[in-house]
Amino acid sequence: MNCTKQQANWRTRRNAAPSQRHAQAKVLLAKVLLVAVVASFGLFVSVPTMSATPPTTNSLTNNAGRTVLTPKPARAPITPAKHPLVIAHRGASGYLPEHTLEAKALAYAQGADYLEQDVVISKDGVPVVAHDLILDDTSNVREVFPARARADGHWYLIDFTWEELRTLNLHERTAEEGKPARAGRFAASGIGFRLHTLDEELAFIRGLNATLGRAQGREVGVYTEVKSPAWHRQQGVDAAPIVLAALARHGYTKATDLAFVQCFDFAELRRIRLGLHSELKLVQLIGENSWGESDTDYSYLLTPAGLREVATVADGIGPWGPQVLTFAPGKAPVPTGLVQAAHAAGLAVHPFTLRADDLPPGVANLPALVQALQAAGVDGAFTDFPDQLRAALK
Ligand code: CA
Repeated sequence: MNCTKQQANWRTRRNAAPSQRHAQAKVLLAKVLLVAVVASFGLFVSVPTMSATPPTTNSLTNNAGRTVLTPKPARAPITPAKHPLVIAHRGASGYLPEHTLEAKALAYAQGADYLEQDVVISKDGVPVVAHDLILDDTSNVREVFPARARADGHWYLIDFTWEELRTLNLHERTAEEGKPARAGRFAASGIGFRLHTLDEELAFIRGLNATLGRAQGREVGVYTEVKSPAWHRQQGVDAAPIVLAALARHGYTKATDLAFVQCFDFAELRRIRLGLHSELKLVQLIGENSWGESDTDYSYLLTPAGLREVATVADGIGPWGPQVLTFAPGKAPVPTGLVQAAHAAGLAVHPFTLRADDLPPGVANLPALVQALQAAGVDGAFTDFPDQLRAALK
């Protein structure tokens, strides 16, 4: 399974082995409950703290042996009244190398509402902010640790201690033969960008909230992804508790905190809610089964029944663009209906990833894409260009 390349965009799909269909069991919300949610969208039905076994007082087992959830008290709205959320995808990664603190600072200054952290765990259990499971395409690991590649020719982050990782220099993402993965992005070298831990980034954001945020009367939140939990488990590491513990150390524990936890793996997201008892806002990322991202059956999750099942544990979904809008050359984007279906299930919708330098077919520029997404009713979006998304929002 190709876990190392996760470069989905709006135009191309990754090639990977088909994922196995994940056996979905459990819990459907009553339709009448959903109607009530739709009537007051923004009040999210979910199950913040509930043990799977034994059932707690707000669950019961029906005659099919499935757990049926009863309504929870209303959660805080996750869509601000003013505008859809601007979620800085790996920071302002359209302008500076992804997941550097420099890219996060720029995204903050450009008006992002949330800064995204992808998290991969080091050999000594430190949560490190990085998108890829491998270091090959974003760092000088080849030069610093030439003998540390695995048999498959890749340098895995999890094979290095944090003390080793912090010696690496980061650079703009490269593709084959060291060429830039995206033309026109940050090209300067010799700057000494470094990896950082999740704790460092959370402290960094708290610091910015106390200076720039206070001056501007705003507070920026965190949007943290548990990367490839099944793969981490194969390596002997349980990633989700490490991520949740770091968030808790920095005060992120409740549904009302400015924090989302995102994951492609629905079984893991369900465990985060029901097994690890997290009350944080949860977002189910939705890709295509062909990506091999996890064992989750994304085709099922996109159905009304699938969305209702997601809503039993999560507050929102993060689909990729073509699941929200149908694109075709020479034609205006057309909503697929996913946003309405997700809203009907009580889920917010935060699609990924808006890129001014990689627009889908039929879209002339980023403002046109933003306009189409707003017309479709999205509640936020991931972008590499936070300033441009912010400027285009109406
Ligand atoms: Ca991510």
